[in-house]
Amino acid sequence: MRVLPKDLLREDQVVTSTAVLEQHARGESYAGTALPDAVVFPERAEEVAAVVAFARRHGIPVTPVGANSSLEGHTVPLQGGMSIDLTRMRRILELRPEDFLAVVEPGVGYRRLNERARRSGLFFPIDPGAHATLGGMVSTNASGTMAVRYGVAGDYVLALQVVTADGELVRVGNRARKSAAGYDLCALFTGAEGTLGVITEITLRLVGLPEAASAARLPFADAAAATAFVTRLVQAGVPVARCELVGPRSIQAVNAYAGTDYPEQMTVFLEFHGNPAGVAADAELARELARGSGALGFEAATAASQRERLWEARHKAFYAYVAANPGKQSLVTDVAVPISRLPEAVTAALADCERAALTAYLIGHVGDGNFHLAMFYGEAEGERERVDEVAHRIVKRALAAGGTCTGEHGVGARKLRYMAEEHGAALSLMRLLKRTLDPGGIMNPGKKIPD
Ligand SMILES: Cc1cc2nc3c(=O)[nH]c(=O)nc-3n(C[C@H](O)[C@H](O)[C@H](O)COP(=O)(O)OP(=O)(O)OC[C@H]3O[C@@H](n4cnc5c(N)ncnc54)[C@H](O)[C@@H]3O)c2cc1C
Repeated sequence: MRVLPKDLLREDQVVTSTAVLEQHARGESYAGTALPDAVVFPERAEEVAAVVAFARRHGIPVTPVGANSSLEGHTVPLQGGMSIDLTRMRRILELRPEDFLAVVEPGVGYRRLNERARRSGLFFPIDPGAHATLGGMVSTNASGTMAVRYGVAGDYVLALQVVTADGELVRVGNRARKSAAGYDLCALFTGAEGTLGVITEITLRLVGLPEAASAARLPFADAAAATAFVTRLVQAGVPVARCELVGPRSIQAVNAYAGTDYPEQMTVFLEFHGNPAGVAADAELARELARGSGALGFEAATAASQRERLWEARHKAFYAYVAANPGKQSLVTDVAVPISRLPEAVTAALADCERAALTAYLIGHVGDGNFHLAMFYGEAEGERERVDEVAHRIVKRALAAGGTCTGEHGVGARKLRYMAEEHGAALSLMRLLKRTLDPGGIMNPGKKIPD
């Protein structure tokens, strides 16, 4: 890159030091790397607009970056250029409890928003576990452990301020709870993975904190029994707030990493939100269903400290796997299938891993048909190929079942190969949109949809 936007920003906002370039050359759980030529750290929307306009004029690729916790190579600047790091844009601009909304800059972490919102009895219920920013979460349409009850990030986006690929600042959406005006451009920029514009402000809907909550731990003999229970639970309409399947090897890794002592069995963790009577009734219904589904137990936890400990351990799972596999690379699958197809999808995936003799960890937000297998590979001959092959088979089966190659992590660079099969002719529409909104092809090139 021959030119840098040095006249547009302060010196400390345009960084070319090796350490910072290297930090922005890679993502989580993705082996490919590419160095940006520079990393810029805008602090205001107008600075982002000026940087993108500059990039457009000079044909420089730009890659927006939040906390860089995405898992599919989303933030790897495949064609170099500028990484636009948004973590200095971290102001909570407004919190309006009376309207159940917050206005934030994209670099605000969801946990920090929740610390503030909690004081007003509100929260933003999307919980991906990682230290993600709200800009990154909206841009990947993130979800996580509570999607079964509360939905996905996009369900909470009321309005966005976006810098388009021309460097223009536009507002899409409004503050009303619903709107039928025009095309839904909030939905278009949500989940776009930085390929259509840079989000510089987000207006988010918040929800009331539940009055009461309770959790339960249910061990099963195997994945088939556990997922069959989950399918029945969801089909019975029990309003579960969290429904996580955790395999025995995952629990073993978490116990070793976090010092917990959860029994190392195929386990379903549940959480219920509501008022005290409702929560007790939901738990009782789940207990009854569990009894008829071969659960080996039902251990309830109502104390907040017990529940927090449980979810804290769950959130550490990925890092527990990494610690158990030093020096190895990982690949995390993320398929989602219709709930009735969950038992066969999980059982077949585990059988694939076993046949390929892979170290794989099962974990999943199974209440919405989404599960992950974190697979590790090292230098051993053929190990990486076996991981790729198993991941591929898992995706092919999910697509054949009417599901998706990615329930929540997104496409990034790794899942491009499935876009044609998953979308068919609709992929041409996506390409048309991309070409229209980003004619110079500068916005996070090489991601989301194949050229
Ligand atoms: C341990 C672990 C657990 C995880 N669990 C979950 C989970 O349960 N559910 C889930 O959904 N995800 C999960 N993830 C993935 C990840 O946390 C999410 O994808 C998250 O939304 C990414 O946010 P981020 O701030 O890290 O974004 P980044 O990784 O920095 O960026 C993600 C994408 O968004 C784009 N982007 C970032 N900011 C902007 C912006 N302001 N404007 C336009 N584009 C932008 C980037 O270009 C990139 O394409 C997990 C990751 C890890 C490491």
